[in-house]
Amino acid sequence: MGMTGIEIFKLLPKTNCGECGAPTCLAFAMNLAAGKAELSACPYVSEEAKKILAEQSAPPIRTVVIGTGNYTVKVGGELVQFRHEKTFNNPTAIACLISSDEDNASIQGKIERFKALQFERVGVLMRPEMLALQDKSNDPNAYKAFVEKIMGLTDAALILVSPNPEVMEAALSVAKDRKPLVYAVTMKNGPKMAPIAKKYDCPVAVRSDGTLDTVMKLTQNLMKMEFKDIVIDTGVRDLKTAFVHSVQIRRAALVDRARPLGFPTIVFANEMASSLEEETMIAATFIAKYGGIVVLSDLQPHYVYPLFLQRLNIFTDPQRPMTAAPGVYPINNPDENSPVLVTCNFSLTYFIVSGEVESSRKPAWLVVKDTEGLSVMTAWAAGKFSGEDVGAWLKKCGVFDKVKHKSVVIPGYAAAISGELEEELGSEYNVVVGPREASQLTKFLKIFTPK
Ligand code: SF4
Repeated sequence: MGMTGIEIFKLLPKTNCGECGAPTCLAFAMNLAAGKAELSACPYVSEEAKKILAEQSAPPIRTVVIGTGNYTVKVGGELVQFRHEKTFNNPTAIACLISSDEDNASIQGKIERFKALQFERVGVLMRPEMLALQDKSNDPNAYKAFVEKIMGLTDAALILVSPNPEVMEAALSVAKDRKPLVYAVTMKNGPKMAPIAKKYDCPVAVRSDGTLDTVMKLTQNLMKMEFKDIVIDTGVRDLKTAFVHSVQIRRAALVDRARPLGFPTIVFANEMASSLEEETMIAATFIAKYGGIVVLSDLQPHYVYPLFLQRLNIFTDPQRPMTAAPGVYPINNPDENSPVLVTCNFSLTYFIVSGEVESSRKPAWLVVKDTEGLSVMTAWAAGKFSGEDVGAWLKKCGVFDKVKHKSVVIPGYAAAISGELEEELGSEYNVVVGPREASQLTKFLKIFTPK
């Protein structure tokens, strides 16, 4: 919340009735400021105070939702300028541009690549999310047919690209339920384009003439019309100026609380480059600093995959390790004779170990112990992967109800816990020290037989 506890306190009833669970209104205000309480807990806040608090507590950069269903894309909603301060919330959406004058083979190729480019890494699905459909016909019926055709091929979130309000309205008449981004309202077409976006209740992008003053004029006009979901294109197509604007917009929204700039941005990397390599580097620049959506002219895997990884790294919380849920994971249809392996819940470890077991084609039960996201060695050193703890979890998780043997394989890096674990489980159990490296698991599982 942007307000201090004292500022919030001034808006509260100051009766200290305690119904909110806090002993005084001041204590409640402090909790609200720290994000530890909800305003709704106080039944006596005036409507006016609610309005002020709601406005003040809104994120400095609006979260804009584009698309529906499986391809609902959220952009913006960022609360910090630097990733190490907290975390970035909504990953930059990656879009592919398709023009209405492209031939069928080109369109089919782009749609196929769009669908095929889906990778899972550490439990996160990485894929492009959006298609920017650019009109080249200036003919409402032709563009409408083009948009309908693409909609029949994919559920992707859409950006409708045309400066012509009539063309846009024709497309929106068929695409409105997909909640596409209307690109774009300009100073020239605003009086006609904005009411159309309003009529179809879709998020809207503004395209400026290259200056932030015009961006603010455009967004202020839309805000007066009660538009909330706005995306900014500064209109700049040279990398240096576009980058400077991107940083200035983020700073102005977060530090100066400049509401007219408190919206996510869209970057047409395809219009700033002369090759896919260049586009990729430009896209990477704006994934790092602070693009809401980047548009590419094509989705070649060898260019897009590095962008996915970069995005994954930037949009994860640096203060919270990624974790897998603790539990018992069956791999390759295990039965009562299959080995039991135990590991930590650091996501990278889990996905490497489960991947190796899977590719060994040997059935196994993989027990994931909660180590608060620490790797095996770190967890062991921190006392979170002790023999006592692992033994207690093995008993509790029920894995030995699934097998008729009494063997458990522990990671080689945790060999030191084997004695303590045997003690915890009982002498009838057989603790086996597995390989140190997951890459050795296939070889190990080929010869290992649980007893
Ligand atoms: Fe104050 Fe409202 Fe809490 Fe009562 S319920 S103590 S009025 S904040």
